[in-house]
Amino acid sequence: ANAIEVRGLEKTYAGSKKSPPKTALRGVDLVIPRGSMFGLLGPNGAGKSTLINILAGVVNKTGGTAKIWGRDIDREPRDARAALGVVAQEIVADVFFTPRESLEVQAGFYGVPARERRSDELLAALGLSDKANAYVRALSGGMKRRLMVAKALVHNPPILILDEPTAGVDVELRRQLWDYVRRLNAEGVTILLTTHYLEEAQELCDTIAIMNRGEVVACEPTPQLLRRL
Ligand code: ADP
Ligand code: ADP
Repeated sequence: ANAIEVRGLEKTYAGSKKSPPKTALRGVDLVIPRGSMFGLLGPNGAGKSTLINILAGVVNKTGGTAKIWGRDIDREPRDARAALGVVAQEIVADVFFTPRESLEVQAGFYGVPARERRSDELLAALGLSDKANAYVRALSGGMKRRLMVAKALVHNPPILILDEPTAGVDVELRRQLWDYVRRLNAEGVTILLTTHYLEEAQELCDTIAIMNRGEVVACEPTPQLLRRL
C-alpha cells in the first residue's frame, strides 16, 4: 500500500492586478510507498512547497487527485490530513506559550485524548526537556525548529512531511534533525522531505524525485539516480 499517491496534480496560482497567473504544478504524478524515506529535490521555484501545501490542505489544487494513506483529499479531507504531520519551512513560534503548553494545545486541536498524549516523551526525544516550561519566544532558533517537529507528531501520524528541514540551520542542528528523522523512519514513520541540497537527499533518502518547473523529471531509488548524475 502507498502512503501518498498523487496523479496529474496541477496548480495555477490566480494572478492579481499586479501579477499574472503562475503555474506551479503541471501534471505531477508521484507514488510514495509506506515506510519509505522519500526526498523531493529541486531548485527554488520548482513547485515542491506547492505540492506539500496541497497535501497539507493549505493550498487548493486546480487539477488532479491526491490520496494520503488511501484517503482521497477531496472526498475524505479530514481522514487524509489526520495521517499527516507537517513541519513547515518557516519557524512559527507560539510566543505566549511554553513548549509543553504548545504541544498540549496542538494535541487538543487534533482531539488527542489526555491519556494518549505524550508531550514529555516528545520533548525528551527532541532534546527540549530542560526548556519544557520556558517561554517559546526565549528559545533558540534551533530549539524552535525542534519544537515544530514535536508539534507535527503529537497525533502520532504515520507520515511526516518536512519542507526544507535544514534550510538556514547550522551543522550541529542539521545532524540532530537528520538523526531524529532516521530514527522515526526506522520506527516505521513514512518520511517525505523537500530539499534543494542533493547532499541532504543523498544522505537521508532511499528514493529521490527531482522536480523542475512544476514537473517531476526523475524518480528513482537513490543509488540508481546517483549513478546517472
Ligand atoms: P492565491 O490566491 O493565488 O493562492 P496567495 O493568497 O497565496 O495566492 O498569495 C497572494 C499573492 O502573493 C499572489 O498572487 C502572489 O503574487 C504573491 N505570492 C505569494 N507567495 C509567492 C511566491 N512564493 N512567489 C511569488 N509570488 C507569491
Ligand atoms: P519550491 O518550493 O520548489 O521553491 P514553490 O512551490 O514555492 O517552489 O513555487 C513554485 C512556483 O509557484 C514559483 O514560481 C513561485 O513563485 C510560485 N508561487 C508559489 N506560491 C505562490 C503564490 N502564493 N502566488 C503566486 N505564485 C506562487
